[in-house]
Amino acid sequence: MVSGSRTRFAPKSKQEYGPDPNAVRETDKYQEEYVRGFVQKWDDLIDWDARARSEGRFFIDVLKARGKTSVLDVATGTGFHSIQLLKAGFDVTSADGSAEMLAMAFRNASDRDLVLKTVHADWRWLNKDVHGKFDAIICLGNSFTHLHEEADRRRALAEFYAALKHDGILILDQRNYDTILDDGFSTKHKFYYCGDQVTAEPEYVDESLARFKYSFPDGSEYHLNMCPIRKDYIRGLLRDVGFQQIHTYGDFQEEGEETDPDFFIHIAEKSYAD
Ligand code: SAM
Repeated sequence: MVSGSRTRFAPKSKQEYGPDPNAVRETDKYQEEYVRGFVQKWDDLIDWDARARSEGRFFIDVLKARGKTSVLDVATGTGFHSIQLLKAGFDVTSADGSAEMLAMAFRNASDRDLVLKTVHADWRWLNKDVHGKFDAIICLGNSFTHLHEEADRRRALAEFYAALKHDGILILDQRNYDTILDDGFSTKHKFYYCGDQVTAEPEYVDESLARFKYSFPDGSEYHLNMCPIRKDYIRGLLRDVGFQQIHTYGDFQEEGEETDPDFFIHIAEKSYAD
């Protein structure tokens, strides 16, 4: 029945975590978390101009310094990095497991007279849907911490590794969960890319869950249940899947220069140092 199928495929408008939201720790949950209302507000959450200012040319410089031109953005979201890199002249392919996010990214690009090459793909079987090999893969915005099970993290990293050329690089960021787990959340640790009107903070944290709450000026609230993985643990996984060199930056500074960063950015290279 037509109306029945419409209902069946209509995206949910409300997040649902059941009676015990803190018990929801499944990798597959991300698809339901990005409901339409949240996706539409995501760009209120991300103040694109402020974010562009705070990141500066960091990712562009990392890629250019290594002579990389083809980039696969595996966590496109609403398209911020894909669009920045397209504008800077890179050959970008934009993937995401959320069709809602990809549709929004495509619209954001069209509004800027750009066309995104989009692919609907889950990281765990990325190479089933994304074809070809890339100079670089980016997985940004704390996205990787959507993976709740270790097997999924290993599988996703192995898929990223396989989608890279022999000398490819993976750029993956994460919140500084070490500080949140060890010292608790401080208001200093705000998302560096939040708009002024939006607050984003962990509502509940234990060793395998960081439940973030996003509050918007209209009183609406949304959540994301993430896995608070530690910096050295991710570095270990990157090594395990075969990356040979891993550099970790704290808030865009070389390791050690920033003592209590909000975010870590790992740059993992397939090839040995020259
Ligand atoms: N990179 C964007 C940014 O920084 O604004 C988006 C970040 S958003 C926190 C995380 C994105 O990762 C979402 O668009 C979500 O759909 C995607 N994602 C999470 N888990 C995924 C998976 N297993 N496979 C593919 N995409 C996934």
